[in-house]
Amino acid sequence: MIHVVDLHKSHGDLAVLKGITLEVDKGEVHVVVGPSGGGKSTFLRCVNGLERFDAGEIIACGVKLDAKTDARRDAQKLEGLRRRVGFVFQQFNLFPHMTALENLVAAPTLVLGESRAAAEARAHTLLLRMGLEGKAASRPSQLSGGQQQRVAIARALMMKPEVILFDEPTSALDPLMAAEVLAVMTELAKGGQTMIVVTHSMGFARGVATRVHLFAGGLDVESAPPERFFGAPEHPETRRFLAHVS
Ligand code: ADP
Ligand code: MG
Repeated sequence: MIHVVDLHKSHGDLAVLKGITLEVDKGEVHVVVGPSGGGKSTFLRCVNGLERFDAGEIIACGVKLDAKTDARRDAQKLEGLRRRVGFVFQQFNLFPHMTALENLVAAPTLVLGESRAAAEARAHTLLLRMGLEGKAASRPSQLSGGQQQRVAIARALMMKPEVILFDEPTSALDPLMAAEVLAVMTELAKGGQTMIVVTHSMGFARGVATRVHLFAGGLDVESAPPERFFGAPEHPETRRFLAHVS
């Protein structure tokens, strides 16, 4: 579903991604962990076409991006990509002036041309599934961080994405709210949703990932199924990281 081949990206003199190659198949949950500044967010942003890159190739849900992909010239292609690949941000990024329901209904009605009634019916079902019944008419400022992030996940799901990218979805939340959000993400994973999750939650990585990656210094230093990643890490950098977080 996602093929990334030898992805390179620099900001000026700073090489942020130095040749990332990975593949995500349908139904897999890849968790990316690693120190701050290791290129994790940049990687997700490249996969979603939010950021240009210098070399390599990405094929995401059949949409091919390379160093020549241009936001303006390839706008249609990028829009198609973002319909298929959802994104959940650390800071939720909900529309602040809209209710939860309106946040969910906006894209399907405007972008997909879905009828208001059909979109609202799906939105209510999703809010229920996220444990947000009774919150349809609330604005983001009236919701807790954990509730806002669950609205953001529901909003991503409204587009029926083939893959969802999560960039530290629980980093802005206290432990209880983080647990609520991780529970929702665990349910999604069990339901077969393909996802790439950047997180510091080692519990989620251990329990839910099909594959865990350590990104550090712009490289995918080590990638393995969770049993091996946590039980028998091979790379000294992985061992150092795991010692640091445990
Ligand atoms: P992570 O998500 O793993 O913490 P990032 O992908 O955010 O890492 O950042 C990787 C490196 O790229 C960092 O050193 C960061 O400062 C740098 N960086 C990220 N975005 C920019 C930018 N727009 N301009 C310059 N440097 C950037
Ligand atoms: Mg980041």
